Amino acid sequence: MCAPLHQGRGAHAGPGVPGTISWFLNPSAQASSHYVVGPAEVVQMVELDLEAWTTDWMNAEWLAIEIAQPKLGDPITDFQYRATAWCLLQMQARYRFPLDAAHLPFHSETPQGIQIGKTDPFSRGSEAGRRFYDRLFRLF
Ligand SMILES: [Zn+2]
Repeated sequence: MCAPLHQGRGAHAGPGVPGTISWFLNPSAQASSHYVVGPAEVVQMVELDLEAWTTDWMNAEWLAIEIAQPKLGDPITDFQYRATAWCLLQMQARYRFPLDAAHLPFHSETPQGIQIGKTDPFSRGSEAGRRFYDRLFRLF
């Protein structure tokens, strides 16, 4: 079990949590995640024991969190770090997997993300990605 991390940037259906939810509710999106974590709210979109359409393949093996930003370049808020950690702890409590970088890949690091050039939530091996993990892992 792994939980790929995504970052929605309002590119499809509008910014933040409302835009992300609107996109997930659009059948043509063919996309969903278990949780959407906005700057100040968390929404569970898919029950943990159901499959979310997170990366086109291996969805049955993965849980997913979408960090929803109002616009490109907005920093991840302290609430989003704490809420993401809370969501991951809910997942870990049920499925018992390590909360480390190997089990919490960025979408950009998944086979599908590499194939189609995804960069969310951070590029593979980036300094920003390392800082994200450092801050997130302190919350476990
Ligand atoms: Zn993604």
